[in-house]
Amino acid sequence: MGGTFDPIHFGHLVTAEEALVQFNLDRVLFMPTGHPALKSDQRVTPAEDRYLMTVIATSSNPDFDVSRMEVDRPGLTYTVDTLLALRDEYGPSTEIFFITGADAVWDIVGWKDAERIAGLVTFIAATRPGYDLDAARAAHEVGPNGFRIEYIEVPALAISSTDLRARVFAGRPIRYLTPESVGRYIQKRRLYREGGQS
Ligand code: ATP
Ligand code: MG
Repeated sequence: MGGTFDPIHFGHLVTAEEALVQFNLDRVLFMPTGHPALKSDQRVTPAEDRYLMTVIATSSNPDFDVSRMEVDRPGLTYTVDTLLALRDEYGPSTEIFFITGADAVWDIVGWKDAERIAGLVTFIAATRPGYDLDAARAAHEVGPNGFRIEYIEVPALAISSTDLRARVFAGRPIRYLTPESVGRYIQKRRLYREGGQS
C-alpha cells in the first residue's frame, strides 16, 4: 500500500486490514513515498516524519510492515521502480497486490509506465465515500486495459490526510481519525501548523 501518508489515518489502516483478510494476504507492506513525482510542486512533510508516523500507526499489527525503500531512494519516485525492486526481493512466484483507494486507481491508469505496472500487480481498490463502485467497474470495461482490479468494500470512511492537516492547522481535533500515538507525534514535531500545506 503506497501513499504519502501525510499523515497516515484510520482510512488507510482499515483498508489495509480489510484487504489482508479478504484476500488472505501474508502481510501488508506500507510504502511511504519519498519525493512524490506527482506532488513535486506541493509542500510535503519530510519523508522521515511520514515514515515514522506510519511505523507508529502500524507497530501493534504483526501483519503490517513499513518499507523505507522509497524514502531512501534519491530523486523522484516512480512506482514501477518500486514494484520491480519488490519483485526482485520477493521473487517472481510472490503475487503482489497494490492496495489503493478506488479514486487512486484511476490516476494510476494515466501514470508513466502504466502498462508495465499493470503487468506486475493486481490492484485492490477500496471504495471511498463519493465513489460509485458500479460506475467505476463499468468505466473500466471501456477504459485502457491490462489492469487487473479487484474492488473491496470498506466501511465508509470520509477520512483524508488533507482534512487532518487542515484540522491541525485550525486547532481542531484529529482524535478518533488517526491513532493517538500519531496525534502525539504530530504535536511533538509541530507538524501542519504552518499555512501552505493543504
Ligand atoms: P491526501 O488527502 O493528502 O491526498 P490521502 O488521505 O488520500 O491523502 P494518501 O497517502 O494520498 O492519503 O493515500 C494513500 C492511499 O490510500 C491511496 O491509494 C488512497 O486512495 C488511499 N486512501 C486514502 N484515504 C482513504 C480512505 N479514507 N479509505 C480508503 N482508502 C484511502
Ligand atoms: Mg490522496
